[in-house]
Amino acid sequence: MQNLWDRARCLLKDRLDPDAFNKWIAIIRPCENEGGRLTLEVPDTYTAKHIQDNFAEKIKDALWDTTHRSVGVDFRVAQPDPSASLPVSAVPSDRKAGGQESPGIQNDIDRLKERFTFENFIVGDCNSFVHSAGLAVSRDPGGAYNPLFIYGGVGLGKTHVLHAIGHQIRRENPRLKIVCTSGETFTNIVMNAVNSKSMDSLRSKFRGLCDVLLVDDIQFVSSSQFVQTELFHTFNALYNDGKQVVITSDQPPSALDVLMDRLRSRFEWGLIADIQPPDEETRVRILLRKAQIEEYDLPFDVAEFLASRYSGSVRELEGALNRVSAHALLMKQAITLDMARRISIKTLNEGRGRVTSERVIRTVADYYNLSPVDIRGPKRHRAVSIPRYIAMGIIRDHLKFSLPQIGRIFDNRSHTTVLSGLKTLDKMVQTEASVNNAIRDICLTLGFM
Ligand code: ADP
Ligand code: MG
Repeated sequence: MQNLWDRARCLLKDRLDPDAFNKWIAIIRPCENEGGRLTLEVPDTYTAKHIQDNFAEKIKDALWDTTHRSVGVDFRVAQPDPSASLPVSAVPSDRKAGGQESPGIQNDIDRLKERFTFENFIVGDCNSFVHSAGLAVSRDPGGAYNPLFIYGGVGLGKTHVLHAIGHQIRRENPRLKIVCTSGETFTNIVMNAVNSKSMDSLRSKFRGLCDVLLVDDIQFVSSSQFVQTELFHTFNALYNDGKQVVITSDQPPSALDVLMDRLRSRFEWGLIADIQPPDEETRVRILLRKAQIEEYDLPFDVAEFLASRYSGSVRELEGALNRVSAHALLMKQAITLDMARRISIKTLNEGRGRVTSERVIRTVADYYNLSPVDIRGPKRHRAVSIPRYIAMGIIRDHLKFSLPQIGRIFDNRSHTTVLSGLKTLDKMVQTEASVNNAIRDICLTLGFM
């Protein structure tokens, strides 16, 4: 059984985003395999529900690919070990009047990515202000720069700086409790608490839980009055207690329509810092540093060549380097300028080959760190609906698909649903630079520009 799960787990590791894998799959323990059903143990009911809702199909697929048989999956909540003590930042699980356990929020707290430190962050004119602000906050959390609001386009290093602040504070002040979350996760936490009628405990938990609150991609918080009010009260409580809050977003607070006014004005109280795309010299330094971290030789002329070809987001730039280094590794060759040129030309030609709707969806998904299933599927929060509208828009404009054809690709949506999504997109294109930049970068990748 362990063997079966280990093999399925290996497949899942390849198929899922590393964060999702570490957060939701790595924690599963197989415990029974009877009558074609596998029972998997998870830490609590909330985790069980989340895995059931989001990963059950992927787990079943992986089991099928491992055994070529259909394997049923059940989840069981692990019995707490009474001798185990709680970790410092864990939340004691409280019980409601009925004795039913309410979901803990510790499972929703994102881990800080190990690689996202200040040491690994290359500073140039484009980001030196954010870098200094981040260091100042790390030295004096809750001090002069509270809240710190960081904004900039996709793939420019916002999450990197946010996590770097977390790492630095942890290093300088290990006793401080750090909570790292995102607009989307915060929304899920609030919604789950509402569903399980545990709002009161959720509020006290959030406020009692952290000295530093890091919120990534606030633009993806739900516009629901309820969620926003909860965020507002959480922010106020932390702020009044002198706790540090750091927020990232794709736009400045003033342009964030999704936020209600009183929340927006709170975010404007502190320091607002933006990140711009890096200039060519900074791009070269980023590439050289990445090669150094991953311990391979990157000749300077190759770094210069890639930096001159990829001028948009740092994520794209890193993607180009990854392709070259993966090729070198596979072919057991050293990286050369000639190799980098050939690979870039090949990518460009592939980009110019026939583009299918499937490829559009995959490219949009990659750009936003989502899966194609998310893009096509039923989820409605902004973190997936905006990428979905963008995919629909590109398929309409470049592949010339009709509305009903687009509807069929996107989980059989009706043509009126597609139309309303496209209208929203057309409006956003007029007002939101981030959406425009995303469409431009994605179309570039697809060879449409
Ligand atoms: P964002 O959150 O703005 O979309 P990320 O923080 O995820 O972007 O950054 C995308 C990638 O680019 C990450 O791998 C990150 O480490 C890298 N990156 C961005 N800016 C820098 C920088 N100045 N130095 C080194 N790496 C960077
Ligand atoms: Mg990010």
